[in-house]
Amino acid sequence: MSNNIKTKFPIFKHQTNLVYLDNAATTQICALSLDAMNEYYLSYRANVHRGLYDISEKATSAYENARAAMAKFINADKDEIIFNSGVTFGINELAYSLSPRLTHRDNIVLTRMEHHANLVPWQVIAKHYGFEIRFIELTKDFQIDIESAKKLINKNTKIVSFALVSNVLGTIAPVAELIKLAKAVRATTIVDAAQAAAHLPIDVKKIGCDFLVFSGHKMYGPSGIGILYGKKKLLEEFIEPFFYGGEMIGEVSYDKATWNEVPARFEAGTPNIAGAIGLGAAAKFIMDLGWDKILKHEASLTKYAIEKLALFVKIFGPNYCHSERSEESLAHWPSLVSQRSFATAQDDNCRIGVISFSLPGIHPHDIAEIFNRDHIAIRAGYHCAEPLHKLYNLPGSARISIGIYNSEADIDRAVAALKKATDIFSII
Ligand code: PMP
Repeated sequence: MSNNIKTKFPIFKHQTNLVYLDNAATTQICALSLDAMNEYYLSYRANVHRGLYDISEKATSAYENARAAMAKFINADKDEIIFNSGVTFGINELAYSLSPRLTHRDNIVLTRMEHHANLVPWQVIAKHYGFEIRFIELTKDFQIDIESAKKLINKNTKIVSFALVSNVLGTIAPVAELIKLAKAVRATTIVDAAQAAAHLPIDVKKIGCDFLVFSGHKMYGPSGIGILYGKKKLLEEFIEPFFYGGEMIGEVSYDKATWNEVPARFEAGTPNIAGAIGLGAAAKFIMDLGWDKILKHEASLTKYAIEKLALFVKIFGPNYCHSERSEESLAHWPSLVSQRSFATAQDDNCRIGVISFSLPGIHPHDIAEIFNRDHIAIRAGYHCAEPLHKLYNLPGSARISIGIYNSEADIDRAVAALKKATDIFSII
């Protein structure tokens, strides 16, 4: 990736010394996204789908074009894209919409590496409907244990919901195998693509999942906007809207109401119009940059970072891919780019650049504080995955996470800060 890429992110003009390595929490926003939102606010701000005047029509077509861009981004149909506020909202909505079908005889299957957003909603709702929550175990190499999945997913499994990429371990879930196991028992599948959207090409048709969610602020777009993808037939016939009000209705009387077409029926009230327009622009930015470039850059930088960091710290996640990824084993990967280019980029790496680590004897918050003194932004704590840390008896971890604007120089500065931390706490 050329150095030029940083010029496409205005923050680096204002924060010239910043090394931003907290991309798993939130990425920086690209100029294209900001400009698109600014243009809306400055020159055609109006509500959508209701005004019979020029700027409202312009706002409506920009909003719907953004939907089309998001559909292209994940190879969905336009009507399968629902704008919402992000992954947390999307999973809650699905949990509330799907759970009334479940009874105490049923189970749902998650993995041990889920973010709280794909755990807590199910916990709360399970108390009400009485279903069981099962967790697919991880292998000693921090991968999803498919043997465990095979044992847990059975004829009583009604939902299988998992993160495509762990926000702590960086592990990429074996999506094809998990979906196949779920489909064999006719379970509904939900993919949390929060950590994947900016880093791996997603093709919902190849994945074959029923629902998929991701957030704009983790893919160089604005915050407060995200996507719930659902297969059209399921949106039409299987799930009920969870929010009610304007725009989502067909016909209303004092006694009752009917619902609008899909996807409008799932977008009650005035949507985040600027956010949607900004998200559409961010998706275009990523697509124009090209997945080949992104995959190659991030895979090589991840490898570089792991090699350097592993000299000082214990990495909480897979170091490298343990079994060589043959083209055959990759053939399942639902990629928009050719299998070959994905294989090349990820050959010796079965993970993305979300790298958590711990230094025995130093609290992760202290590590982050020392990094901050050198203007390096990283995350420390549980990263909204407290049970996962507790499973490994960790009081939290420090996390470096890579974005497209990061370079080897950024990693070198992080490693220098890490050396400083070990000196300050004289642990080696
Ligand atoms: N799932 C995963 C894997 C995540 O990394 C995150 C954000 N850290 C979420 C869900 C929640 O996303 P949001 O805060 O955008 O709703």
